[in-house]
Amino acid sequence: MRIGFHVRVGGGYDAAVAYATKHGCSSLQFFSGNPKTYRIGAIDAPALAKFAAARTAAGVTPVAIHTSYLINLATDDPKIANGSLRLLKNDLAVAAAGDVAYVNTHLGSYGKRDRKEGFAAVVAALEDALEGIAPQVSLVMENSAGAGALCGGTMEELGALVRAVGHPNLRVCIDTAHTWAAGYAIDTPDGVAAFFDHVEREIGLERIVMFHFNDTEIELGGHRDRHWHIGEGRIGIAGFRAIVAHPGVQGKVAILETPGEEGDDARNIAALRTVLEGVGA
Ligand SMILES: [Zn+2]
Ligand SMILES: [Zn+2]
Repeated sequence: MRIGFHVRVGGGYDAAVAYATKHGCSSLQFFSGNPKTYRIGAIDAPALAKFAAARTAAGVTPVAIHTSYLINLATDDPKIANGSLRLLKNDLAVAAAGDVAYVNTHLGSYGKRDRKEGFAAVVAALEDALEGIAPQVSLVMENSAGAGALCGGTMEELGALVRAVGHPNLRVCIDTAHTWAAGYAIDTPDGVAAFFDHVEREIGLERIVMFHFNDTEIELGGHRDRHWHIGEGRIGIAGFRAIVAHPGVQGKVAILETPGEEGDDARNIAALRTVLEGVGA
């Protein structure tokens, strides 16, 4: 697998690459702007090209942008829907300018809206965003913890979106903490095997291009989003060992979105590396 962290780029792209390299990363994920505003800055193509060259030289590739947390493609509020689509399209343009393979996004919440109507709105928004996508970029839908009216909490729903849109550049990211929160017991070899069988049936493993590897402290099916350190939560080392041993993850990207500071990052990536070495991956 290609492994890395979600890194801050506020201190400059060079510092982000240096951080990834220092910790032996072969991938990374970043926000293209402030993830809590609808404001969009101008695309600095020369800086992005330099960032891409530095990553390639360091062997940190492929990489991902995580879109703004404000994105909601399922809403019935036209202002939020338009702002979300603008943010998503901007990240796809940044990715094209900066040699970023994956634009990972949350889908949002249906709120009080009829789910069927909301699903159609998500399909339409994805189709719109994919219309202008660069061939080397993928729009990646991240599974949610499935709380309340959140879109994308089940493999059935993600698979239905993939089929309804029918675009080759629409892919899926599996976040392990969200998967657990949504009720999939991925803490044992049997549970992991059953989950991947389910993913294969509902979505197709070839559509899964990346993973967010996060442990979690909440109860199975708790529908809350709380990331924890690798091997120190409910999924545990046994769960991650089974996950990384599965054929469905081989050669793909795994991003850690675990909490804490640099010392925690070092501990988490060391834990992941031990797990990978244990299965010869
Ligand atoms: Zn996310
Ligand atoms: Zn995630």
